[in-house]
Amino acid sequence: MPYPKLDKVDIAYLTGLVGEKYIQVGDSISEDYAHDELGETRAFPEVMLEPDSAETVAEIMGYAYEKGIPVTTRGSGTGLCGGCVPLHGGILLSTARLNRVLEIDSNNLTATVESGVVLMDFQEVTEKMGFLYAPDPGEKSATIGGNVATNAGGMRAIKYGVTRDHVMGMEVVLPTGELVWLGGKVAKNSSGYSLLNLMIGSEGTLGIITKVIVKLLPRPSKVLTLLVPFPSLELAIGAVPEIIRSQLMPQAIEFMERDVILSAEKFLGKTFPHKTAPAYLLLRFDGHSSAELEAQYEAAGDVCLKAGAIDVLIANTIERQEGIWDARGAFLEALKAESAMDEVDIVVPRDQIAGFIEYTKELEAEFGVRIRSFGHAGDGNMHVYILQDDLEKNVWKEKMDTIMDLLYVRGSELGGQVSGEHGIGISKKEYLTRDLGDTLITLQQQIKQVFDPKNILNPGKLF
Ligand SMILES: Cc1cc2nc3c(=O)[nH]c(=O)nc-3n(C[C@H](O)[C@H](O)[C@H](O)COP(=O)(O)OP(=O)(O)OC[C@H]3O[C@@H](n4cnc5c(N)ncnc54)[C@H](O)[C@@H]3O)c2cc1C
Repeated sequence: MPYPKLDKVDIAYLTGLVGEKYIQVGDSISEDYAHDELGETRAFPEVMLEPDSAETVAEIMGYAYEKGIPVTTRGSGTGLCGGCVPLHGGILLSTARLNRVLEIDSNNLTATVESGVVLMDFQEVTEKMGFLYAPDPGEKSATIGGNVATNAGGMRAIKYGVTRDHVMGMEVVLPTGELVWLGGKVAKNSSGYSLLNLMIGSEGTLGIITKVIVKLLPRPSKVLTLLVPFPSLELAIGAVPEIIRSQLMPQAIEFMERDVILSAEKFLGKTFPHKTAPAYLLLRFDGHSSAELEAQYEAAGDVCLKAGAIDVLIANTIERQEGIWDARGAFLEALKAESAMDEVDIVVPRDQIAGFIEYTKELEAEFGVRIRSFGHAGDGNMHVYILQDDLEKNVWKEKMDTIMDLLYVRGSELGGQVSGEHGIGISKKEYLTRDLGDTLITLQQQIKQVFDPKNILNPGKLF
């Protein structure tokens, strides 16, 4: 569908709404706004706006609706599938100035924040006040709005769930420019269809989230990390169902291979505490007493040793734990620094991870491309990276397309879903369409049509 190009009258009107300092037009727009962290697709908006209130967002959206101008919302641009790329030009609406923590309500254990608040800043505020905001996606510079729009997961999902499980309410600007509240500070809600849940994970296609009410928990005072080396990845991953069967409750169970650790060491210039084993599990426990924590980690250590672990290393100081988790957090960046790549963010039932990873090894050998994996072993969500290295771009692309096809087919056969936490954006559209099938895709398209009859909000994403 062709969209009108913005003219001088549009630019003058939008400048009036946000002020000259907060609009970039045409060639003055920074290249940063044309892409996200990984998506190959690049596209420039015609204007980039930084409004500082929900009311201004509503005015911008209302104007865009009247004129049929496409609008794409951008948080921090840390997405990995092109979700915030303004595919059809138009307006790119940055939430960077919607960055206020509005309220910490200790009676209701909630926080109300503007959607552009950065996760890292929010975690710092809540932790200082003795609370835990439980979702913990790896990229701390992402915004809360971006996390909600992608239903971000992260390390602590195994114990605490994902972003969706912690959102109680939100203020949203609809594609028509109307400003509405969904949900609220209520612990229960059986009041009609949950439009709140529809908005979570909608990747900016149904509304622009301007404020979010999230749950807070009492912050556990004790945290401890186990680094567990294994003689093979199969044994490492095989230990995960054993840990879960033992009814232990780790906050995180991550898996990683030696190669990725070495890449992270090189990238960060820091030494990892252990790197001679082919594969590792990284477990983190939290609790409110040392005794509680000790019982958990000792039992988990025993389970791992019985499952074939070489050793169990305990990191109990903040510094040691931070060193290990910083390395874990740098895996993606470290691989990116080595080679062009694209990723698969499949999620399968936890007991199917080993089979899936084994399959990536078979494909690596068959196609002669480097495939690296790491991820959230505790919740079945794997990040599998297909690297270009020295291959010609077109050769790599051809191989990658075939490998991705095969991986998504196998993921589906194992009872999995296309994306565990990064979303669909542009780059995973064809896999979602194939996986959901005609009936479900049509339902999704009809929902989009109801919210956004002119198809102007983040067009070209999801399906
Ligand atoms: C090193 C690294 C590690 C990562 N680790 C994780 C991880 O562990 N778990 C995980 O889930 N993700 C992870 N990610 C992916 C990324 O950080 C998340 O997808 C994050 O939620 C994106 O937030 P953002 O603010 O950067 O959003 P953007 O990238 O700017 O946008 C993402 C999508 O959300 C929409 N959007 C953004 N803000 C709003 C809003 N206010 N209203 C409506 N729509 C909006 C955009 O239109 C787009 O479709 C990682 C990324 C990197 C680079």
